Amino acid sequence: MKKKTILVKDIRVRFAPSPTGPLHIGGARTALFNYIFAKQNKGSFILRIEDTDKERSDQKWTQEIIDEFNWLGIQWQEGPDIGGSFGPYKQSQRIDIYKQYLEKLLSEKKAYYCFCLPEDLEAKRQDQISRGLAPKYDGTCKNLSEKIILEKIKNNDRFVIRFKIENKTVRVSDLIRGEVEFDTSLLGDIVIAKNLENPLFHFTVVVDDFLMQISHVIRGEEHLSNTPRQMLLQDAMGFLHPTYAHIPLFLNKDKSKMSKRQGDVALKDYHNQGYLPEALINFMVLMGWNPGTEKELFSLSELIKEFSIERVQKAGAVFNIQRLDFINSVYIKNKPIRKLTELCMPYLEGFDTKQFSQKQLENIIELHKPRLKKLSDIAELTDYFFKEKLEYDKNLLKWAKMGDNEIKNALVAAQKTLLLAKKWDKENLEKILVREAELFNLEKNYPLQNKGYLLWPLRVALSGKSASAGPFEIAEILGKEKSLQRISEAILLCDK
Ligand code: GLU
Repeated sequence: MKKKTILVKDIRVRFAPSPTGPLHIGGARTALFNYIFAKQNKGSFILRIEDTDKERSDQKWTQEIIDEFNWLGIQWQEGPDIGGSFGPYKQSQRIDIYKQYLEKLLSEKKAYYCFCLPEDLEAKRQDQISRGLAPKYDGTCKNLSEKIILEKIKNNDRFVIRFKIENKTVRVSDLIRGEVEFDTSLLGDIVIAKNLENPLFHFTVVVDDFLMQISHVIRGEEHLSNTPRQMLLQDAMGFLHPTYAHIPLFLNKDKSKMSKRQGDVALKDYHNQGYLPEALINFMVLMGWNPGTEKELFSLSELIKEFSIERVQKAGAVFNIQRLDFINSVYIKNKPIRKLTELCMPYLEGFDTKQFSQKQLENIIELHKPRLKKLSDIAELTDYFFKEKLEYDKNLLKWAKMGDNEIKNALVAAQKTLLLAKKWDKENLEKILVREAELFNLEKNYPLQNKGYLLWPLRVALSGKSASAGPFEIAEILGKEKSLQRISEAILLCDK
């Protein structure tokens, strides 16, 4: 599909998270769409921290946002950590700016002080609901006289600041959803600040999008219903509307909103489990954007070339962990072994990895690479290399209908062969063990071609697992001494 040309000179987009908890993977995707959109239009991507909610905001979440994007390799051109010409980029540092705009709206009578008590508002709300009406503010304080307002303020009466919502139809032209109409008469006058020093979300977003010269607001669909309110605020303050694009939510398999109860939601959880940044980026963009071809693997630079905001789907994007696993496993397979080993090392921290050389460790990782969906899988897949003593059920040693004695015989035969091995590499080990397996079958009258009679018990003796790498590869890495020791232990197990 041909891309529409965007008719704005300077493309400036922002990611505007509230640092009230771990960075959600849906939020990370929103940021990514903004980043890619900025890149492909040679624009600027800005990080703005929306931390006006003092109770719920925490610097540690801001730091997590910065750290996780560093890890993803996504860099903004302006933000709280690097500054820029439109800063500060933390809303908590912009209170004076908001105050001026609040005062202006109040003086122009586009906003007003509301002294209604919360309990009265709640009673009215309940009454409206019981009468089958959509609850909205009834306008009690809309036309208070100057005198009464001053008196109440002097009296230290608590107030909030409400914005007069004009009753009309607001049309949002959304790059993804097309034209969406809202009837604002259902809204009632909204609270835009708790007081002059405590502005609220709708107001700060509108002021900042204007002052930071944001051309496109690309954000989660949960904000679509906020857009008419924000557009009315823009009108009241004489600001131009940015262009909007609301991206679909991530959904659970059952199509409910993605929540912690059904799996991990924080980007960091995926990071910690060993999903690679390039795989997560690829996956996140595909969850919601349809490239229009079968192609599934995209590097970031390909995404910057091929992504188009108009091809973002309207429907919610079901979070498909199998797809993420698949994409991640491909990126893992393509990693140079040295790098992959380095990436796996933190997941082997609990093991005595020092007993192996760098080359041996690389061999261990290489052997298990085909089965790695995420880096953390490496611990369970390879733990048997690092253990001093293996623990496993002796039934595991059993191949076909072999009894304990027959298993023992097989292990003794393998042990003898290995004792005599001159060259300890997997090629030679394979050669001598396969020959021994054939002789063993001949001697014991086992089907000749079925080498499992010798090799299966041997592999289990070396790994203690029902599934592992092959016996030659394991023996090569473990070395002669440790391999023979494990076989002896398995022989003892047969006697138990
Ligand atoms: N701070 C808002 C949030 O974290 C986003 C605001 C916006 O993108 O307009 O949900």
